[in-house]
Amino acid sequence: MGSQPHVIVVPFPAQGHVAPLMKFSHQIVDHGIKVTFVSPDFIHERLTTTMPMKSSIRLVPFPDGLEPGDDRNDTIKLTNSFLEALPGHFKDLIEQINESDDERVSCVITDGMVVPALKVAEKMGIKRAILCLAGPATLALVLSIPKLIEDGIIDAKGTPLKNELIWLSKEIPAWTSTKLPWSCPGDSESQEFIFGHVFRVNHFVKQCNWLLCNSFYELDSLALNLIPEIMPVGPLLLANQSGSHIGSFWPEDSTCLSWLDKQPVDSVIYASFGSTSTFNQQQLDELALGLELIGQPFLWVVRSDIVNEAISEFLDGFRMRIADRGRIVNWAPQEQVLAHPSTACFLSHCGWNSTLEGISMGVPFLCWPYFTDQFQNKSYICDVWKVGLELNPDENGIITRHEINTKIKTLLFDDGIKTSALKLKEMAKKSVTESGSSFKNFESFIEQIKH
Ligand code: UDP
Repeated sequence: MGSQPHVIVVPFPAQGHVAPLMKFSHQIVDHGIKVTFVSPDFIHERLTTTMPMKSSIRLVPFPDGLEPGDDRNDTIKLTNSFLEALPGHFKDLIEQINESDDERVSCVITDGMVVPALKVAEKMGIKRAILCLAGPATLALVLSIPKLIEDGIIDAKGTPLKNELIWLSKEIPAWTSTKLPWSCPGDSESQEFIFGHVFRVNHFVKQCNWLLCNSFYELDSLALNLIPEIMPVGPLLLANQSGSHIGSFWPEDSTCLSWLDKQPVDSVIYASFGSTSTFNQQQLDELALGLELIGQPFLWVVRSDIVNEAISEFLDGFRMRIADRGRIVNWAPQEQVLAHPSTACFLSHCGWNSTLEGISMGVPFLCWPYFTDQFQNKSYICDVWKVGLELNPDENGIITRHEINTKIKTLLFDDGIKTSALKLKEMAKKSVTESGSSFKNFESFIEQIKH
């Protein structure tokens, strides 16, 4: 019997990695290729409860390597333990699949951060594809880490040694020493953890058979041209035909869509800060009061995992006060919210997925970056694509209600920003439709896997 192409997809165990790789998996399956999707069992459980699954995608849970009583809220410990335990299980899985005549593994796809899976595949002579889930400029900077170390700009742990701007080219926004793709202000443990992972990516990018990314050529041709072998295949959310909610860790509160239906066109401020950003009480109060001050309807995502008792009490009072003028949800169907005609702007932490989602829907941004690549994404949004404005903290590091109020009002009256956002939206759509740049790259990737 002829063998059907079969790929194993292994995302880094975080929301911003699992969801786009799941979207990509659905796209691959639609082209007649079998997909096995591997995740630690705590993520597997969430995926099976929140997601309708195509029968052709097989979800495989792997043990996370921790003991039953261990704390699973410690992301670094959990991720390290999962990645350490992965090689043995992964090798067994590949051998087990390969035993079946019509199901040999043709390719392993990861986002580059799952180095142990790439190592196993390399050893077993299996082809490897890396799908980069950050922006092309971020990847280009990560690929220049060895040179940055050699030039004495950073040390081997990623700590800046010089307080100077880093330029990749004159047209690409420079990085300051405190806003590098692994920078986590005030959290050196996370910074070292992220740096360790992105540093290792360097070797494997050069060894892999395909380097793909969730972007499109027209969005950032200058950065993409710095990485000759790269094939942009995004935005994955537009290329995917299987619906927006695949790969979510939390159940989406869809009631906000009927609330959006009742709001005037172009009136709602959508505030959402991704899957990991957190607020202290003072900053959360300022944000709430800022949203109230604007006097327009707003939809605000406050994840259940950032709510402690004090925040919860404050939010209860706030909810009562604003009544139906605003909605607070645990987790929103973000892509549908951004595509909704009532949504006027996106108050965002500028994670790469959120950035591409806002761009794909033509929504202007108000940028509130926290760490890592979010700083560079903000620079692109505000200075290169000119589709948003940045919020600036006061001298105490707080983004005040007045700053939020003033910037949102400025943004909503800026026709130039709205026009640029709509132009990018059209470009994004074009790239994934037949004969578009990402469409062609994806077709070429699929053809190569099949043959
Ligand atoms: N997201 C969502 N509902 C929410 C908030 C976020 O579906 O209420 C999704 C969002 O659409 C995006 C992802 O979570 O795809 C967040 O990824 P991003 O890269 O923007 O940020 P991260 O979570 O990695 O910081």
